[in-house]
Amino acid sequence: MKANVFHGVNDIRVEEVPEPKAGPSQAVVKVTLSTICGTDIHILSGGYPVKPGLIIGHEFVGVIKELGDGVTGYKVGDRVAVGAITPCGQCESCLSGDFSQCGGIPLGGWKFGNYLNGAQAEYILIRDAQANMAKIPKELTDEQVLFVGDIMSTGFAASDTANVKPGDAVAVFGQGPIGLCALLGAKIRGACPIITVEPLEYRREMSLRMGADFSLDPNTQDVQARIKKITGGRGVDVAIEALGQQVTFENALKAVRPAGVLSSLGVYENNVTIDLAAWGAGIADIDIMSTLCPGGKERLRKLMQIILYKRVDLTPLITHTFSLSDIAEGYRIFGGKLDNVLKIAIKP
Ligand SMILES: [Zn+2]
Ligand SMILES: [Zn+2]
Repeated sequence: MKANVFHGVNDIRVEEVPEPKAGPSQAVVKVTLSTICGTDIHILSGGYPVKPGLIIGHEFVGVIKELGDGVTGYKVGDRVAVGAITPCGQCESCLSGDFSQCGGIPLGGWKFGNYLNGAQAEYILIRDAQANMAKIPKELTDEQVLFVGDIMSTGFAASDTANVKPGDAVAVFGQGPIGLCALLGAKIRGACPIITVEPLEYRREMSLRMGADFSLDPNTQDVQARIKKITGGRGVDVAIEALGQQVTFENALKAVRPAGVLSSLGVYENNVTIDLAAWGAGIADIDIMSTLCPGGKERLRKLMQIILYKRVDLTPLITHTFSLSDIAEGYRIFGGKLDNVLKIAIKP
């Protein structure tokens, strides 16, 4: 089969590799639609190292091609969504409810394209398949549910972790794909106003289209002053960091009210420092919380309900489509934020 293999920094190649075979408790899924994630850009640039020879990619949907022994309740041909995070459901971390950190290793639940072969391929092997394959309702297209396994789950989790309540003021820093999903997640929990901060105009436009009440340009506006004004001097109840950089982290912290929450989603490539005044010398009861994308099939089932019942529509995020053979061009456009890109769909 064809797959996109990581060979080293700035070196990925689509090449022929052996097809996977399902063992006990496993399944093989034919990937019908996949995509490129911001984390893949970190991998390609060397900011997040993975081992050479690994098939990368972790956001996809597909059709069951083969079922191993012990996987029940499914049949070959079922359309399924599978998460970027695939908890085993049996280790100490999973049984403590910490599914994303499966195995007790940091980011252990993130297996595809991290330490197991990933989804930018024609076929993918699903371990612990029983816990991780969610059937796609027949009314929904692949495009509609492509993002449930990663960016939707991740973006929505920012507000889950921070326990956003109806009427909470929320600011989201960064309106890339994750930030836009975080905005939708805050909206669905009843946050208002929702303020987004993003330097690229086309992303601010999408942000307003998806329901932001205000979208600020940090290059031309005094973001902190605007947020103070909008919130009547209070600051926001929850600030969501959706980029993974010092500047957005710091601005998010400055925007939070005393006893509020900074909910961090970004993947950081460098150490982050905390502004002491913004953190109230450490005793302003401001919580800094982080979230890795929650996994498991029940999470995916519920996210697909949200799409089925038309509470959100993520299809406007798909701005480009490429074949797997042309994925390098997709990386170039997505990594460079060229051509007003938001997300790139990959058709194997
Ligand atoms: Zn991702
Ligand atoms: Zn586990």
